[in-house]
Amino acid sequence: MRVLAITAHPDDMEFMCAGTLLKCKARGDEVFVCTINNGNMGHMVIMPDELRDIRRAEAQKSCDMAGFTYLPADIGDLCSYYQSKEQKDILVDIIRQADPDLLIIPDPEDYMCDHVAASKLAFDAAFMATCPHYFTKYPATDKITPIYYMATAAGINFNPTEYVDITEFYEKKLQMLHCHESQEIWLRDHDGVDYTKECRILSEYYGLQCHKDYAEAFRPCLVSHRIVTERMLP
Ligand SMILES: [Zn+2]
Repeated sequence: MRVLAITAHPDDMEFMCAGTLLKCKARGDEVFVCTINNGNMGHMVIMPDELRDIRRAEAQKSCDMAGFTYLPADIGDLCSYYQSKEQKDILVDIIRQADPDLLIIPDPEDYMCDHVAASKLAFDAAFMATCPHYFTKYPATDKITPIYYMATAAGINFNPTEYVDITEFYEKKLQMLHCHESQEIWLRDHDGVDYTKECRILSEYYGLQCHKDYAEAFRPCLVSHRIVTERMLP
């Protein structure tokens, strides 16, 4: 199977679905990761151009560690607009390139504009990617792919219906998260956010719900043509 996870920022994937993607990889899937935003506003001191490069390298390192193919859309933070044709076309080409059988995208009701835009851009692009007469750089894919929403930040207002036991992959998920050093350090010093603690609480919280040590949680996007009867998540 080919799996594509689309998130807003570098480090969202590690928090919300890295364990699941590692489990996909372990069952033999080919895994692709797209970050729509380049993370260039995620610091109080480092300026955007420099930070963009740092964060791209951090995300690449994390994907390399896991054997995932990294496909960044490279749109500035706070600059993704879900009605932008130009941005949708970037996403269409990423989806056409990855040609996924399973798509994991952000929930449409999350805490900030980039996450909401990422969800809507990904949803629209997933359909557009299948239209042969919608011309972009890459040819159309003929798959109408099932879509799963990953949990919202801190799991707020998110009611999952599918769980993935990631206990076996939890340490690796954490190692991948630690690749995002620029974020981990400034969030700790500036906001008192502890990356490791947040990741553990979230994974244990969803683990508690399904009686496993650590889990990640999802809900299917229930729209026509994307509903399947088989279990797609690992
Ligand atoms: Zn984010």
